[in-house]
Amino acid sequence: MKFISTRGKSPAVTASEAIVNGLAPDGGLYVPERFPEIPMDFLDKGLPYPLFAAKIIQPFFKGDPLFDRIPEICEKAFTFDVPLRMLDDKKGILELFYGPTAAFKDFGARFLASALESIQEKSRQLLTILVATSGDTGSAVASAFYKKKGIRVKVLFPKGRVSLRQEKQLTCWDTNIQSYSVEGSFDDCQKLVKDAFQDEALKTKWHLSSANSINLGRLLPQMVYYVYAAQEYYRQKGRYPVFIIPSGNVGNSVGAYWARECGAPLKKIVLAVNANKTIPHYLETGKYIPGKSIQTVANAMDVGDPSNMERIMYLFKDFTTLKRNVSAFSVSDKEIREEIRSTFKLFNYILCPHTAAGQFVRERFFSDIDTIVVSTAHPAKFESIVEPEIGKSVPVPKSLQKMLSKESSVTSIKPDMKALFTT
Ligand SMILES: *Cc1c(COP(=O)(O)O)cnc(C)c1O
Repeated sequence: MKFISTRGKSPAVTASEAIVNGLAPDGGLYVPERFPEIPMDFLDKGLPYPLFAAKIIQPFFKGDPLFDRIPEICEKAFTFDVPLRMLDDKKGILELFYGPTAAFKDFGARFLASALESIQEKSRQLLTILVATSGDTGSAVASAFYKKKGIRVKVLFPKGRVSLRQEKQLTCWDTNIQSYSVEGSFDDCQKLVKDAFQDEALKTKWHLSSANSINLGRLLPQMVYYVYAAQEYYRQKGRYPVFIIPSGNVGNSVGAYWARECGAPLKKIVLAVNANKTIPHYLETGKYIPGKSIQTVANAMDVGDPSNMERIMYLFKDFTTLKRNVSAFSVSDKEIREEIRSTFKLFNYILCPHTAAGQFVRERFFSDIDTIVVSTAHPAKFESIVEPEIGKSVPVPKSLQKMLSKESSVTSIKPDMKALFTT
């Protein structure tokens, strides 16, 4: 099984190589050369989640040194529940927020960390992961790589521009995780990381690698819960549901499309975005015009130029095919807030702002058919937006509580490469 670049100018590599490289050398994203047909005969066997995950992920590692280790890697990565709740007879919510940092990014980050740790066993050089974050990614990566052998992580976030709880989750680490609060914006953080990767000498000396959402190691595990949930819904209702996915960089949605390519019974896939309308605009006009990101109440989806669209466009060669397979709806801040309020009133269920965008799309366009809205984060992570709408406080899950009560350690730096690589 080989992976090739969306831009077609890099050599084909195995899954491990794609994971270590992050981006392909020609600047493209790694995609499977072809999709393995996964026999879905294990679906109704009631396998525990990590074994279920291994069945789906392992075919992508055929011929790779990690092939035999995939079950063990899944066992280490997926240590939490993946419940499907029903708001009513046809309205499912897939809760992907029971990992240590209470967002779905734990699935990808933890699989990537376990896989890289296994790859690193054979290396004598310490691997340095650089990650710029505006919130959720950094904490998921920090938590996933904490105390992983042979790997060090540098997390960069814009000083004073993340919520208090987010900052706590980014700075509560020690040993192999270093946090930097950068005097600047998220773009400054991202530029530092990009510059570091373009400096060949630095890259070699520090053995730099990335853990951002374009890494193949984060995408593969994001296929699994769609198959799992489709099956669980079918078991309960005898019908397959439409999936509605709150989307930003579109990595989570690529997981769903890839699962379907492998033969998983995913009926229809719908993207819910916030006021950042690049994708809906593209579907309407056929013109892909990336914009600057607009700040919204669903900030983990504030993406003006979704990097994984390159994979979607690669998958559906021409616009007509893409349009037949992808639908996307934009949801405003006002609609998100109102949806949090009305869902609490109607169903006594508390949504995070991102999930609320998905729920809005369901109520507006798909209210009569079988649907699953993918819940990407626990509402307690966004309490300052959620609590005023529901008029009460959101209980904080245990894993989050544990993190919030730890000591902070952070280095404040100017947006300057030297400062980042002296400590
Ligand atoms: C990252 C994130 C998203 C967007 O996911 P993509 O894979 O970037 O589309 C949505 N909701 C939350 C809570 C997130 O952290």
